[in-house]
Amino acid sequence: MNLFVANWKMNMLRAGARAYAQELGRRIGDRGLDVELVVAPPLTALDAARDAGERWSMAAQNVSSEAEGAFTGEVSARQLVDAGCRYVIIGHSERRTLFGEAGPMLARKLARAREAELVPIYCVGETADEHTAGATDSVLSDQIATLRDDPPGAPLVVAYEPVWCIGTGTAATPRDAAVASTRIRELLASRQLRVLYGGSVNPANAGDLLRDGKVDGFLIGGASLDPAAFAAISRAETG
Ligand code: PEP
Repeated sequence: MNLFVANWKMNMLRAGARAYAQELGRRIGDRGLDVELVVAPPLTALDAARDAGERWSMAAQNVSSEAEGAFTGEVSARQLVDAGCRYVIIGHSERRTLFGEAGPMLARKLARAREAELVPIYCVGETADEHTAGATDSVLSDQIATLRDDPPGAPLVVAYEPVWCIGTGTAATPRDAAVASTRIRELLASRQLRVLYGGSVNPANAGDLLRDGKVDGFLIGGASLDPAAFAAISRAETG
């Protein structure tokens, strides 16, 4: 089943999250959609953004690389499960570039997620310079190598998020997305895997990207802050 993930980043207070949840529920109807929806709010809004009817599940945007103990300000994988998360985003480009998270730390985060039975949404993608230099393939290989010790039988979501497309208003072409998602599937050939595309997805480009991008859904930032847009994107495959 295709998967659509709303990454709110560091936006929204609880009152806004409650209004969002109400409006998203109204937009998708009592039965929900025939796709899987996930909302990744800031941790402070997890409860407010939850759906009592479970038409969407919850994700965290980050997790500690440590299991427990004296790590002030961190939140563990077990705590995220305890707070109702099913998924966790790991390796988002903002974590990589703004917070210096690289392979070894991300591998530890993946391991903590698995211990707690959180499903990782592992993000990969090249920068603009790497894209221009034709280095996408080797960047993806390096970033996918971080999954070396991830248990091969466990469900995995990989989000292809070219850095030059995130928050820029310029999405990759469906062809670029298809080439990258095909490469990711080759690199993880033995795995049960869903590949998402992320980067300036909106209701206008979602249909083409889903039809021709060889992906199983989207990780959506900016547009997902509007429940109407998130619902419209999640309906993309129906027309
Ligand atoms: C993201 O941050 O994961 C993302 C895809 O952002 P945007 O949709 O705003 O480009």
